[in-house]
Amino acid sequence: MALSIYDTISRKPKEISSRNGVVSMYCCGPTVYRDAHVGNLRTFLLSDLIARTISLSGLSVEMIQNVTDVGHMSDDFQEDKMLEQSKKEKIDPFDIARKYEERFHHDLKNLNINPAQKYPRASESIELMQEMITALIKKNAAYVGEDKSVYFDAQSFKSYGQISGNRLDALKPGHKYEYVEDGAKKFHADWALWKAAGNRKEMIWDSPWGPGFPGWHIECSAMSLKFLDGHVNVHVGGIDLRFPHHENERAQSNSITDTESVDLWVHGEHLLFEGRKMSKSAGNVVLLNDVIAKGFDPLALRLCFLENRYRSQMDLSWQSISSAHETIKRWRNKIAAWGTTHAISADSTILSFLENDLDTPRVVTYLRALEKDTSVIDEEKINAFIYADQVLGLDLTRTPVVRELPANLKDLLEKRESARAAKNWALSDELRATLESAGLEISDSASGQSWSWR
Ligand code: AMP
Ligand code: ZN
Repeated sequence: MALSIYDTISRKPKEISSRNGVVSMYCCGPTVYRDAHVGNLRTFLLSDLIARTISLSGLSVEMIQNVTDVGHMSDDFQEDKMLEQSKKEKIDPFDIARKYEERFHHDLKNLNINPAQKYPRASESIELMQEMITALIKKNAAYVGEDKSVYFDAQSFKSYGQISGNRLDALKPGHKYEYVEDGAKKFHADWALWKAAGNRKEMIWDSPWGPGFPGWHIECSAMSLKFLDGHVNVHVGGIDLRFPHHENERAQSNSITDTESVDLWVHGEHLLFEGRKMSKSAGNVVLLNDVIAKGFDPLALRLCFLENRYRSQMDLSWQSISSAHETIKRWRNKIAAWGTTHAISADSTILSFLENDLDTPRVVTYLRALEKDTSVIDEEKINAFIYADQVLGLDLTRTPVVRELPANLKDLLEKRESARAAKNWALSDELRATLESAGLEISDSASGQSWSWR
């Protein structure tokens, strides 16, 4: 069997393609005007999951992920997200970009996401984009508008709409496609490749069409074709990017290459938090740093994601992070107890789950069953866990830290035991809170209290 992943265009699983044993991957990166929330990280983990599975099945990967630091307009299209944030924080927009870009890399490291080969920045690829725009104008796929912005001629691209199902003839005028000066476009669904500066003073560059800045969609066409040698085997992004971002990227790239530039479009579903879409207005934005600040292993978040199929919407909660944290801790302890690691051999069951459209929930269920199965010898268990961990990335061979209990906490635990014996529940609860804030986890059962480090 070979790795197949659900293809958004054909709406069925498709075998992954490669060139000389190398799979070229492009993953839409962050817009660096703020911290990535855990929803964004779910999508970034998807590309890591694909890359690790490809490696496990014996191919190499070349992955590029862009950093959007100019041209991504806010939802009401009034302002560049970078400039909006620059005003809020009173910091130069390029400094905003570098600040959040660094934090993005830090988050990836904490989530054990292997780095891409390159992270090209939009602001450093202006010439590349201008070259592509010039080529599109030459091919009659783009035109200079009256406002000196350059627009892509959507009607020149006959198969527009295959990714999202939004066919041009069904797209109504008035839909928010792109920021635009009224009347400058020939057709309502055309979009800006280059935007004239107008009153804008920052983050603008000279161009053959006058000073301005690039549109968001052209950056991904320019970077993917440049850095992946003109063809993309797998393209990854969140479900919201299907339209207009990827639809427009496909039109641009295919018009340049005169062929299908991307073999497989993969989209990850969104993450909800406690039942609701994560947003500032709902007040439920969670960052990886919040997870760490609560004392959880950041890889607990990774396990939560892996327990859900990437194509299903998933609901995250503090409870699920906490359980995943416990599971990882238990697995590390068990693996250490099962014995030493020998050369790891391939596990065809695990590989077949992964190659079947990245069925990580089945891998996790399989490992849970194996953990409890008394008929399986420890050596086999350890092999399966470590083999799977090449893709799961949960750092399962990390030696569990043995931390001594300090005398003051020991004392508090004893006091709590006496309080419970005396049925002084108020004192018992008070002591529990103190112990928990010191990093302990307390559980009570019929046989008394027990504790562990969180
Ligand atoms: P942005 O930084 O807003 O450009 O988004 C970066 C990536 O995160 C894109 O691939 C989005 O599709 C993805 N994304 C945004 N919100 C969510 C969410 N709630 N769950 C999963 N992925 C998301
Ligand atoms: Zn993109």
